[in-house]
Amino acid sequence: MPLVVQKYGGTSVGDADRIRAVADHVARTRREGKDVVVVVSAMGKTTDDLIRLADEVSSVQPPREYDMLVSAGERISTALLCMALADLGVAASSFTGSQAGIVTDTDHTKAKIVEIRATRLTEALAEGKVPVVAGFQGVSTERDVTTLGRGASDLTAVALAAVLGAAACEIYTDVTGVFSADPRVVPDAHRLGRVSFEEMLEISAAGGQVLQLRSAEFARNHHVPLQVRSSFTWEPGTWIVEEDASMEQAVVTAVIHTTSQAKVTVSGVPDRPGIAARLFRALADRSVNVDDVVQNTSVHGTTDISFTVPRTDLQTAVDVAEALSGELGATAVHSDRGVAKVSVIGAGMRSHPGVTATMFETLAGEGINIDMISTSTIRISCVVRGDDVERAVRALHGAFELA
Ligand code: ASP
Ligand code: MG
Repeated sequence: MPLVVQKYGGTSVGDADRIRAVADHVARTRREGKDVVVVVSAMGKTTDDLIRLADEVSSVQPPREYDMLVSAGERISTALLCMALADLGVAASSFTGSQAGIVTDTDHTKAKIVEIRATRLTEALAEGKVPVVAGFQGVSTERDVTTLGRGASDLTAVALAAVLGAAACEIYTDVTGVFSADPRVVPDAHRLGRVSFEEMLEISAAGGQVLQLRSAEFARNHHVPLQVRSSFTWEPGTWIVEEDASMEQAVVTAVIHTTSQAKVTVSGVPDRPGIAARLFRALADRSVNVDDVVQNTSVHGTTDISFTVPRTDLQTAVDVAEALSGELGATAVHSDRGVAKVSVIGAGMRSHPGVTATMFETLAGEGINIDMISTSTIRISCVVRGDDVERAVRALHGAFELA
């Protein structure tokens, strides 16, 4: 029997009715003659609530205990779903990440999977049962419970699909797929029928919310066909698949934006070897995730370095830059929370010149100033004022005829 891995996110299992609806769909999939492994997230905002509780009781929060706490949400979902399946006469067994054989390193709160020993899952499947696995967690090589980072239930699902040789991994969420732009900003944005892994990676990295970046990477590296679809409408959704050479590629597939970034500028640093290395090593040592970096050509031997970080990392980034500014010889460190990034993404860009020009002309036509620019072979990103970004998205979506 073909095997599918189905992952249900927090809103998909948000209350008792939702859990019963999910059980129905799992039962339906079984009736279609497929084996199913289910991965669930914590119900609704459970993980946020647990983190808030931790903040209320402790400013220290030993990472081992943090993981023990926040992994609990997923465990609740597994047991409830198995009970709902029992009501429908579907035999199912719940498994924690540890019981499912997901072995990780010891890097608590953001552990990496080192190995999956899925024997208990394959045994359950052989007995005709539906294994229901708690997402987002594993057990470390030191035998402690670990978690894999926020949003990582997707990763659990993709990794299990890879190791079990599943025909597909279906990611169920509260949107109907991957869109050509955020439909809340662009009402005539359309759902993409299929996107390539490369495009999906860029979409996730540029701030698209539908699929966690690490999961997109894992799926690409292990050739796991993914489908993102809604557990509210059950319509087909978006396939994320290997690029197909026979396919005519759209020049631009999607316009993605994010407002969750901030910019740091370190001004007046001497233009000599080792300055950027020193700064970015210090940022890396504090686990600050640097996104775009821009350095100007020097004038009179000094230059400015600007970079963007997730807004949640801004204070740490500023602290690091200020602590180093004397050593680096910088004249000032500025931070800016009012920035946003808009990106156009499309595999067809590789062979079509002029996309950059069209993007800049479109922004110019809207009177929108570009602050920073970065590119990959299939993406162009501009940092702009936060107040301008939604207008930028709408204009670009129109200019590239994505409606
Ligand atoms: N419950 C975890 C989180 O909220 C994992 C997930 O939902 O993917 O980050
Ligand atoms: Mg999630």
